[in-house]
Amino acid sequence: MKEITTYQNKKILVLGLAKSGLHAALLLHKLGAFVTVNDRQPLDESPHAQQLVEAGIRVISGSHPVELLDEDFSLMVKNPGIPYTNPMVQRAQELHLPIITEPELAYEILSGELIGITGSNGKTTTTTLIELMLNQDQTTTKAFVAGNIGIPATEVAQKITPDQTMVTELSSFQLLGITSLRPHIAVLTNIYEAHLDYHGNRHNYVEAKMNLIKNQTATDYFVVNWDSNEWQRLSQRTKGQVVPFSRLGKSKAGSYVQDGQIYFRGEVICPVAIIKIPGQHNVENALAAVAVAKLKGVSNQAIREVLRTFAGVRHRIQFVEEWQGRRFYNDSKATNIEATTVALQSFDQPLVLIAGGLDRGFTFEALAPLMRQHVRALVLYGKTSDLMKAAGTAAGIKEIVQVSDLVAATKQAVALSRPNEVVLLSPAAASWDQFKTFEQRGDLFIKTVTQLTGKTEETEA
Ligand code: ADP
Repeated sequence: MKEITTYQNKKILVLGLAKSGLHAALLLHKLGAFVTVNDRQPLDESPHAQQLVEAGIRVISGSHPVELLDEDFSLMVKNPGIPYTNPMVQRAQELHLPIITEPELAYEILSGELIGITGSNGKTTTTTLIELMLNQDQTTTKAFVAGNIGIPATEVAQKITPDQTMVTELSSFQLLGITSLRPHIAVLTNIYEAHLDYHGNRHNYVEAKMNLIKNQTATDYFVVNWDSNEWQRLSQRTKGQVVPFSRLGKSKAGSYVQDGQIYFRGEVICPVAIIKIPGQHNVENALAAVAVAKLKGVSNQAIREVLRTFAGVRHRIQFVEEWQGRRFYNDSKATNIEATTVALQSFDQPLVLIAGGLDRGFTFEALAPLMRQHVRALVLYGKTSDLMKAAGTAAGIKEIVQVSDLVAATKQAVALSRPNEVVLLSPAAASWDQFKTFEQRGDLFIKTVTQLTGKTEETEA
């Protein structure tokens, strides 16, 4: 960690107290700042707030009092989830108070190297693959994941030494609040949907993402998906060296697929088929990670080993186990039709699909064509059960079973499945009708599968 003095004796307001706010506040306190934390949640409901109070940090909780900004703060560290339309943030902007997010602060104290990953989809998978590849050949840990993946960057940056790397997943919300952050290697997986409720329009969303490369210089790299003209054009904005990756083989200047093999600049790395995580989208994530690994001098052997063994990020088309010729996958993160679409497209084998969850008032007809192609049997539970049944019937699926809950659904799916088939939990709905979180739902699926098959869970990625 760099012992910076920038914040000594400065009055700083940390707005929003999620995990990242907690770590930002503790770090600023340690750096000698006078920190005030403001959060909407009442003090007695927030263990984080109590921890800060115990550390001697001023906490104002229960509401966002705009008059707090009458105090002469010199900086606001804003939780990325709080929109710029929030009255506190608007007042700070009127006062021309600099507003940053927590990854910026992490960068300022980081003494190791920064790899930054953004994109609409595939961030967590790509971040994880990069971290695994960088550590594969090492006797001591060289790379640490951080950021939007769930571990605050300020927490990780404090322990990183100059010879280590912080592999940081960055959301568009986080990237809006950066000023000096400069990844030595930046990665853009893709740009699809915009968070219109937050960014207002797609232009703003794209601009936020491009903040990732705004400070790059000639010695830096920008690893970018080459399979869309838009992303190719955006790459011109970096002052660093552009390293394309292309599943469609559109450029040979970086990593790409040709004749079923993954290449990097003319050199064969491995067959595409060794990638354990399924689907074309994961080939793209693998290509992005290969490009970064090659830039960092990772051996082909280490790259291959990671691609061959990595079973997927937990709850995202995660391989659970193989039993009597059936393969089980947990895609509990698929809380909408789009995510389940990606999952269905990821398999060539016939599927026994388990789906269902919270009813958000829309129907599932859009899934029917893909279900017709990929799903042999459908096991449904939860509030959306009847709506999914209508889609399954429209798709001509003969075996449709409706049960009350996920445990019953998993048992039914196992009973219905045949060798060479895939049993896939990809609910196409939020979990909140029966669970607190999609993680809890996925965990129960894994537990039920392992109990039924008498095996233990293979990996915990
Ligand atoms: P993120 O961190 O950006 O949300 P994840 O790696 O967690 O992405 O993957 C979440 C889901 O997004 C996956 O289950 C899959 O449905 C989809 N996905 C992942 N990678 C890609 C990709 N490269 N292109 C399109 N969709 C993808």
